[in-house]
Amino acid sequence: MAAARTPLVAGNWKMNLDRAAATSLAGNVASRAAEADGVELVLCPPSVYLGIVGTALAIADGHSPSGVAMGGQNMSDKPSGALTGEISAGMLVDLGCRYVILGHSERRTLFGETDDQVATKAAAAIAAGLTPIVCVGEKLEQREAGTTAEVVAGQVRGSLAGITAAAVGRLVIAYEPVWAIGTGKVATPGQAQEVHALIRSVLGELAGEATAAGVRIQYGGSVKPDNAADLAAEADVDGALVGGASLAADDFLAIAAAFR
Ligand code: PEP
Repeated sequence: MAAARTPLVAGNWKMNLDRAAATSLAGNVASRAAEADGVELVLCPPSVYLGIVGTALAIADGHSPSGVAMGGQNMSDKPSGALTGEISAGMLVDLGCRYVILGHSERRTLFGETDDQVATKAAAAIAAGLTPIVCVGEKLEQREAGTTAEVVAGQVRGSLAGITAAAVGRLVIAYEPVWAIGTGKVATPGQAQEVHALIRSVLGELAGEATAAGVRIQYGGSVKPDNAADLAAEADVDGALVGGASLAADDFLAIAAAFR
């Protein structure tokens, strides 16, 4: 029997919006969260806006009355110290975050983040009580060369190196083919399902099948209101990590509602 997994739809706002727009978008999503009843919603604003978004969501002890949670887009693997410009897992928790995106392809490609670093950050996030959303995904040339399975399986193993089986059960994986992020090219539901099933089997090797069956695997890459339902229909697609379309409450909530 299929494991019951609460769908998780997260908005990665990246380096967008200003103070007023972030406050208004968070307030809008919170007030309309019932449109996606049964789906867990997470907003991941730029770190400088976590405070005001936390206030707009009325977060106390990591929980908001609307049920909408908040997440960081990145964090340091260190708890504190002389690390100019960095933020720690403890700081994210302090501001009311329950999630943190780790190893997004933009971090990997533009900032040289490696699987090893993602694994160290994931361990630090879990130790602080955060749920990491660990991103993996192949580049276009890797898909065209037929190495998608090898690349993604390697990223999952590498990004979770040293994470205990019990902790694997607490995290979220986002499969984001790099060629689909911000390009308008979405993976077909079949392509997504094939990789999600592969990821679940790798998680099974790492943490046991029962644990793997409970892990939520999101799809990310040009998810829009008009393609979300087909993706949501796939057995191992447990939600979405949404970039561009998360900047408009209508689109974000329509995507989330497709996962009900
Ligand atoms: C992302 O950045 O995680 C993402 C999926 O972006 P977009 O939805 O804009 O492709």
